[in-house]
Amino acid sequence: MKEKTLVWFRNDLRVNDNPALYETCKDNQVIAVYLTFSKQWRKHNDSDNKLWFAMANLHQLEKNLEALNIPLVVLNADCFDKASGLLLKLASQLECSSISWNDEYGLNEESRDSEVEKSFSESGLSCKRYNDQTLFRPGTLLNGKGEFFKVFTPFKKALYRQLQPAQLNCCPTPDKQKPIIIKRSKTVRYTELYKPLSEQIPELWLAGEDEAHQRLTTFIEEKSEDYKANRDFPNRPSTSTVSPYLATGVLSVRQCFYAAWMSNQGELDSGNEGLQCWMSELIWREFYRHILHGFPRLSRHSAFIEKTEKLPWSNDKANFKVWCEGRTGYPVVDAAMKQLLATGWMHNRLRMVSAMFLTKNLMIDWRLGEAFFMKHLIDGDFASNNGGWQWSASTGTDAAPYFRMFNPINQSEKFDPKGCFIRKWLPELAGLTDKQIHAPWQHDLETSYPAPIADHAESRLTVLAAFKALKQP
Ligand SMILES: Cc1cc2nc3c(=O)[nH]c(=O)nc-3n(C[C@H](O)[C@H](O)[C@H](O)COP(=O)(O)OP(=O)(O)OC[C@H]3O[C@@H](n4cnc5c(N)ncnc54)[C@H](O)[C@@H]3O)c2cc1C
Repeated sequence: MKEKTLVWFRNDLRVNDNPALYETCKDNQVIAVYLTFSKQWRKHNDSDNKLWFAMANLHQLEKNLEALNIPLVVLNADCFDKASGLLLKLASQLECSSISWNDEYGLNEESRDSEVEKSFSESGLSCKRYNDQTLFRPGTLLNGKGEFFKVFTPFKKALYRQLQPAQLNCCPTPDKQKPIIIKRSKTVRYTELYKPLSEQIPELWLAGEDEAHQRLTTFIEEKSEDYKANRDFPNRPSTSTVSPYLATGVLSVRQCFYAAWMSNQGELDSGNEGLQCWMSELIWREFYRHILHGFPRLSRHSAFIEKTEKLPWSNDKANFKVWCEGRTGYPVVDAAMKQLLATGWMHNRLRMVSAMFLTKNLMIDWRLGEAFFMKHLIDGDFASNNGGWQWSASTGTDAAPYFRMFNPINQSEKFDPKGCFIRKWLPELAGLTDKQIHAPWQHDLETSYPAPIADHAESRLTVLAAFKALKQP
């Protein structure tokens, strides 16, 4: 008779290509468990959009597990420190001899998991951990000195040199197991825990593995070849929009990478430019996860480049509020913020533009922007969000050099030349010409749209001086 085992689901809400689930199902009778951590998630600034999406996907997962005769138990833990007690109690109630899960790489997640592993081992129960979120387990891809890479290009080259096709093998959905009946004490009504922040969100982001695969397939078949040429234009639907599915683990990075690699005839850094470029973006995601694991100070809200902690960041609450609400007077920045507020997602180019605007034009601390993004993004992911913010603020690893500061008007003219994206999100500017729309204040117009909050040339000088001052002894 097979032993009963818990499989603990976290940010891996799928039955397909789930290493912990697949491997455990081979020799055990599996009971799935999911813990809600409402207080901890709030502390981590996870948005209601992201949490609503996670619960909607958990619901789909529950149905998929049911089809495999795997029951799902959902318990409320509030904070990470309750996880080990709850899981041990459950294992004892259900007579399970072990637990397995796919690892996560944030500092708090890692200490929570070590605690669970320790308490299981002290109780004579075993614990199996799998790598799932990355192609290489963080810490196993190091430079010649045995240290973590701090620069993206050598990291990517090393990854491509060492990547074995077997690492891209996706595991199938496990076979259906014999039915198992368990006693459920309390059921958390998880689908009612969170509400999305805007009405459009449930229509825009359908839950489930089928939807995630549909997006991946449509991207690979219809958009990937032109991805390099189109990806920076926010009005062209040219990116995959799989980020929320990757963030909750409804889709795995292997599934994405494998699809692109196969479509590129098994080539990594040759072949179609669009596919190469997309795989490279997936490697940025990987890079930031390795960095997060290698440099725990990032999880403590510290800058990667430590001396940048001395920058005189502004704490101007009024300016911050104006940026959050999309009223800066710079249409491209405001349209981007409106997109975020309405859809829970923002185009990558605009994430960079709006983040640089906050940190360089307004010189507001990147941590405030990072937290605001997390509180709204449906794809909020600590490693990528922190990496993106520190890149934009020039405080991060392999970041934009401090003197490379986006001019929001040039960015607007270059990537939204006809102002279509701006008109969509700022209808009050719809009547402006293609020339006027990027900087309305330069054209002596009667409009209710706000005047610009900062002068780009002036703020550039201020920021350059602040960064230069860091060099002085
Ligand atoms: C300030 C800032 C904050 C960000 N916050 C997040 C975040 O919280 N969550 C998140 O998933 N991404 C974040 N990104 C990265 C990127 O903007 C999004 O991953 C991308 O816009 C998602 O859209 P997509 O799925 O259509 O991407 P595609 O262009 O189709 O790319 C495919 C996948 O590659 C990964 N990827 C793409 N670009 C990047 C990048 N620059 N860094 C890391 N991974 C990348 C994502 O997983 C993405 O889903 C941030 C970027 C910046 C500049």
